[in-house]
Amino acid sequence: MNTLIKETGHRNERTLVIVKPDGVQRGLTGEVIKRFERVGLKIVGLKLIVPTKEMVGKHYTTDPEWIRKTGEKNIKSFVDKGVQPPINDPVTAGQSILNTLVAYMTSGPVIAMILQGANAVKIVRKLTGGTEPILSDVGTIRGDFVIDSYEMADAQGRAVRNVIHASGNIDEAQSEISQWFNSNEIVEYNAIHEQILYRDFSDLLGK
Ligand code: GDP
Ligand code: MG
Repeated sequence: MNTLIKETGHRNERTLVIVKPDGVQRGLTGEVIKRFERVGLKIVGLKLIVPTKEMVGKHYTTDPEWIRKTGEKNIKSFVDKGVQPPINDPVTAGQSILNTLVAYMTSGPVIAMILQGANAVKIVRKLTGGTEPILSDVGTIRGDFVIDSYEMADAQGRAVRNVIHASGNIDEAQSEISQWFNSNEIVEYNAIHEQILYRDFSDLLGK
């Protein structure tokens, strides 16, 4: 894999976005792509697939700590709201969320895409918004297009609906991209807007 991709802030930084089944069914794919394109990111991979259970399980357990950390986050979100958490053990809570995610993510087609550009991972997370829609900032994808909360989702035993997945950090992005895309499905090309975004004007210095 291109080592430049790992360099934070480099124009070759890549991240993975998945429009989840609720986003595809609600016809929000174009809206999601529009927001990432207009900020200046370039699409270098794109596909429509129905994920298998194995793909989703692998996707969320790339980080071996994900189950425990997600469980802890879930418990904290209830405590912060002054509500008794439905499950008090982090690993049990995290595993239960993973089970619901597998059901959710395999329920229909998703659109997976690789976005490339300077600070791609952080920019995409900023535009995506916080995980729990009830708290996601207005103006973000999750803040603008979803009404859901952990409380509602957990009461119904389902994953919180939040339209898209976006890689959380550069290492996660690298492993997720290689899980969802073969190298021959990634297209290297120059986009015309990159001349404006990344030009350093060194050719004009000294004139
Ligand atoms: P993300 O990176 O913002 O998507 O958040 P995480 O990596 O922490 O969690 C992955 C996905 O699991 C989220 O997008 C939600 O769909 C789901 N999820 C995470 N935490 C919870 C939770 O506390 N309760 C429920 N029901 N679903 C959750
Ligand atoms: Mg995540």
